[in-house]
Amino acid sequence: MDLADLYRDVIVDHNRRPRNFGRLAGAIHSAEGNNPLCGDKLHVFLEMKDDIIRDISFEGTGCAISTASASLMSEAVKGRSRAQVADLFGSVHRMLTRHDAETDADLGKLAALAGVREFPMRVKCASLCWHTLNAALAGSAAPVTTE
Ligand code: ZN
Repeated sequence: MDLADLYRDVIVDHNRRPRNFGRLAGAIHSAEGNNPLCGDKLHVFLEMKDDIIRDISFEGTGCAISTASASLMSEAVKGRSRAQVADLFGSVHRMLTRHDAETDADLGKLAALAGVREFPMRVKCASLCWHTLNAALAGSAAPVTTE
């Protein structure tokens, strides 16, 4: 099995069985995001303790990339501080947009989305959840859109 197969399996798995899917009962922060180009819609819920994401969940409908990306993100950011999440988003953004970028070592399973950069239309599918998370962290009331 090569790396591309492994990455495909991670995306298929997270699309079929999204982690942290559903509405978070104790959520104080939430935000909605839309990617009209593809029809992806997400709602991200956060429970914060001081500066740390104590719990996170998401709901929504969308393509396999947007669902898998949100699922992978939810696992990656749980227990992290705002600053750590900002760093991680920077790494994900570089991975999704730069062809010359080395994949950062700290990306873990999120590296499964590296192949998305070959499909520019799909980059917004993969990044929608991150923009929605940022809006939830910022307490923004207006829905996020990729357009
Ligand atoms: Zn999509």
